[in-house]
Amino acid sequence: MTKCEITSFAKASLAGINLAESFTIEWEENPNRGGAVSYIRGEYRGILYLSNDLELVPLATITGVVLHEIAHCIDVSQRGFTAHDARWREIVRKIGGDEKEVIDLYGIFC
Ligand SMILES: [Zn+2]
Repeated sequence: MTKCEITSFAKASLAGINLAESFTIEWEENPNRGGAVSYIRGEYRGILYLSNDLELVPLATITGVVLHEIAHCIDVSQRGFTAHDARWREIVRKIGGDEKEVIDLYGIFC
């Protein structure tokens, strides 16, 4: 998948849950993690970062990383913060993602 396609997938996922206005998507040069969500505690919005390296990994890994981060976005929008806790795991399961904190192919952290 190209960055453009991955961005479209992430944007469509955010739009599908009415969070398109709450989270912007930015690409970062960070080979140590597939993605991240940046937010200020209690603000219910933020930035979804995706690693430039995502273009190089298999589709299942891309989907896993994006759903992992989307679950963080949902969590932030509901609680004003997020963590790899029971609530986040419940959200990621519900949207069809993997509740592992680390996507193990290539050891990409989220
Ligand atoms: Zn995470």
